[in-house]
Amino acid sequence: MQEKQSKGFVYIVGAGPGDPYLLTLKGLKALRKADVILYDRLVNIHMLDFANENCEKIFVGKEPTKNRFPQEEINKLILKYALEGKTVVRLKGGDPYVFGRGSEEALFLFEHKIPFEVIPGVTAGLGASAYAGIPLTHRSTVTQVLFLTAHEDPTKPESQLELQAIAKMRNTTVVIYMGASNLGSIVDELIKSGMNPNSISAIVENATTPKQKTFTGKLKELPKIARKNNLKPPLVTIISPCAVFSKNLNWFENKPLFGKKIVTTRAIDQSRKLFAMLTEEGCEIVPFPVFSTKMIEIEPPVIYDIEQKFDWMIFTSSNGVRYFMANVKDEIFKPNFQKVKIAAIGEKTAEELAKYNFYVNFVPSAYNSDAFIEEFRKLYNLKKARVLRIKGTFENDPISDFLKRECRIYSTLDVYEIIKENPSKEEINELLNSNPDAIIFTASITVKYFFEIVGERKAKSFLNKIKVFSIGPMTQNALLKKGVKKVYSSYLHTLEGVIELMKEVYEKEEK
Ligand code: SAH
Repeated sequence: MQEKQSKGFVYIVGAGPGDPYLLTLKGLKALRKADVILYDRLVNIHMLDFANENCEKIFVGKEPTKNRFPQEEINKLILKYALEGKTVVRLKGGDPYVFGRGSEEALFLFEHKIPFEVIPGVTAGLGASAYAGIPLTHRSTVTQVLFLTAHEDPTKPESQLELQAIAKMRNTTVVIYMGASNLGSIVDELIKSGMNPNSISAIVENATTPKQKTFTGKLKELPKIARKNNLKPPLVTIISPCAVFSKNLNWFENKPLFGKKIVTTRAIDQSRKLFAMLTEEGCEIVPFPVFSTKMIEIEPPVIYDIEQKFDWMIFTSSNGVRYFMANVKDEIFKPNFQKVKIAAIGEKTAEELAKYNFYVNFVPSAYNSDAFIEEFRKLYNLKKARVLRIKGTFENDPISDFLKRECRIYSTLDVYEIIKENPSKEEINELLNSNPDAIIFTASITVKYFFEIVGERKAKSFLNKIKVFSIGPMTQNALLKKGVKKVYSSYLHTLEGVIELMKEVYEKEEK
């Protein structure tokens, strides 16, 4: 046991072909445990967000043309970290043992007596098959599947590919990896060796990502298709009678938001859910966070006094709940707030409170300040109420004015700070030139900061060229006031609502 620990541990993990959610649960567990991750070029970098905050992430990718990181160097690095006693994840595109040199790394670890495990991944052929709608087998027509590489070890004296034999196989799906640069020659060889030039085939470029493109045609036409469409790696070529099914089974590229490039403005640490939802819809995400949040430390006596001084605590954001709870960390004298009633501005905030076992006495029927004010006023006698609003430094809305006016005592407690981001000129220009389809604003504060960061004039002209989505009427108004001409606003005032609205808008446009 002692020896094992001093040597560290290596997980060779398959990351799948692109969609970060194709990582296996076991792969995710390994990622969470890792001290160091060594990742490849084809690994989706959003997957690294799954790792621990303190985990070191090292790019060891190989570019197709230049060999930036020779295999020996990668092996040496893995060994170095393992010998330091670290838990290392070697994260590889697709599956580690399918054209991924995972076997070489595993043998190397075996030789050096480093304990390891290999966690499979969705190989590109499988990802392309599912996401482009080309089943690899089909009971009536295809009974065998073959994966081959068009790019062999250049030091081999001659090709080991049995193209002659492959060309004669019937009822077979052939998946060709690494064929972007020599698709022409491999197709020629296959046809020369007797494969039917009219075999139905497909090329799937960037499978399982928002850039996925599927082209179907006859085998003989593939090189022309690749040239005409300027296809680039990574792509797989699938020669299969099942390629005809793509027309009906390509669910991914037919999603209403597929391939849409969407700018998000939320703080990164609050964007996980939004990123996940957009990824699921096949969107390309351009993160442009306009602020980040930071906890404000509250002196413990202030927390303990709440029960004495107030009848109500009002939470108006999930952030407020999280940062408040982060302040209530004293396990021994933890206040239980039994004597205080609790109000939440909406379901999401109430859910967050429930996570900490808070009983929520009041949630309005709709998520907006009017509903809150109307219903709160009707239910409770505010003339006598002493109310504390738990909030971030920026929050100031009609609810504050209302409470100030109608309650016996109204106080606020800022539990987190909003810090405006300060991106460089280059980063701003990158955004302005990124040619997105749409942008999402999830709070009025993001609108204010977006205009301040980008500059009033540039921000306005940028936003008037793309579709602008807002989470609700307050954010919508902030945008309209800034001179944005058209703003789509969600009725539900939730992220789910925004995504549904985007789908509706784009679906209508298609028709
Ligand atoms: N171990 C990987 C393969 C690595 S070799 C796996 O199991 O998928 C790299 C080749 O994989 C690329 O040249 C391409 O043929 C294929 N590939 C990887 N990701 C891909 C993707 N998203 N779309 C299409 N092909 C992909």
